[in-house]
Amino acid sequence: DIHASFKPLDETLVAGYVESQPGLVTILGGTSADWNVKEVGDGNLNFVYILTGPKGSFVLKQALPYVRCVGESWPMTLERAYFETTVLREHGRLASHLVPVVYHFDHPMALTVMEYLAPPHIILRKGLIAGTVYPLLAQHMAEFMASTLFHTSLLALSTMKHRKEVAHFCGNIEMCRLTEQVIFTEPYMDAANNRWSSPHLDTDVQALREDSAIKLEIAGLKSKFCERTQALLHGDLHSGSIMVTQNSTKIIDPEFGFYGPMGFDLGAFLGNLILAYISQDGHATSQDDREGYKLWLLKTIGDTWQLFSEKFLVHWDQNWGSGDAYKKEVYNTKDLQLLVQKSFMSELFQDTLGYAAAKMIRRIVGIAHVEDMESISDVEKKVTCERRALTFAKHLLKERSKYSDIRQVCNALQGSR
Ligand code: ADP
Ligand code: MG
Ligand code: MG
Repeated sequence: DIHASFKPLDETLVAGYVESQPGLVTILGGTSADWNVKEVGDGNLNFVYILTGPKGSFVLKQALPYVRCVGESWPMTLERAYFETTVLREHGRLASHLVPVVYHFDHPMALTVMEYLAPPHIILRKGLIAGTVYPLLAQHMAEFMASTLFHTSLLALSTMKHRKEVAHFCGNIEMCRLTEQVIFTEPYMDAANNRWSSPHLDTDVQALREDSAIKLEIAGLKSKFCERTQALLHGDLHSGSIMVTQNSTKIIDPEFGFYGPMGFDLGAFLGNLILAYISQDGHATSQDDREGYKLWLLKTIGDTWQLFSEKFLVHWDQNWGSGDAYKKEVYNTKDLQLLVQKSFMSELFQDTLGYAAAKMIRRIVGIAHVEDMESISDVEKKVTCERRALTFAKHLLKERSKYSDIRQVCNALQGSR
């Protein structure tokens, strides 16, 4: 058992661990008496400590063998730390300026030490709730997704290399199971984990569970999630997994990383931006109506897809034939290349809209809600936003084949009630 020597740390034990690692002592400088240790984890799963010393700082993240927000009654594999670190390093190779640097990984201890993203870095979700504009967000996220998704797919890799990677990441089975359960299954049935604004949304939830067209669409998305090993995904790319400043964007927390359909990452990010957009009416005040901010969010949704597809196609054009998917000898004219690219991008667009909708629905009626909605103190306003999100998500899920352009989606969102 690789984790035989696992020991859970806490604020007092962390310094002792670091003392045993000369490389880490060097980063902080001084001795443990000079270090400041603070636990800051606000996620659902793990413990995160910030360590500061006279010379430097870092973040130490440890997985415990259960789900943090539930407790020991919900066991969860320690191996997620291994996959998180492996993906972080791969992302570092493909998009180094958009992820924290990994300094150290201790497999038995399920513990990763990485670059501390110091203030003014904050979690994007919190910035969106506060109404802060991030001018480079769409560009950075498009860059991140285009590079990481393209270069881990068969557009860039041989089938030999790709299959080896797929086999490796099949090991992250428990995290995939968790996603299947909380995103694609439980929101559509009576499950103990589910919660929603009750009694306000009781009939909406009932209607969702009786909606055959929705269940048909979700079945398709779930099967694609489980069966399609298209690229190495981040796997949990919501606005709580992104830290930002005005000129920096860093993607953290890829512990759900695995080979799946590209649209799942794109949809996670866009679905969470749509939730942020819809929640703005709940945060508007007489001093700040949020109307300008809503326009920026709409633009960011549109720009993200637009820039992503442009950048993805640039990677493709520059690396045509380097992967085994479309051999140069077969796809040997520019017209033919354009034809397959168009077909590829339109399927990806459909997947993206479908997964965006699935991500939204589960945040309204499933186990884990979003602070964008939860922080709306007026219950009537909150419920109005939640119902609008649910209605728009259901529409997107069922009618997405009618959309061929992200601007049409933005227009529909703007007009939705
Ligand atoms: P979980 O897997 O439990 O969701 P996260 O990796 O999302 O854990 O981290 C939880 C919180 O810790 C983040 O929301 C962020 O506030 C903080 N955090 C995580 N990594 C860093 C980092 N590299 N620099 C600064 N803060 C971080
Ligand atoms: Mg997290
Ligand atoms: Mg996490």
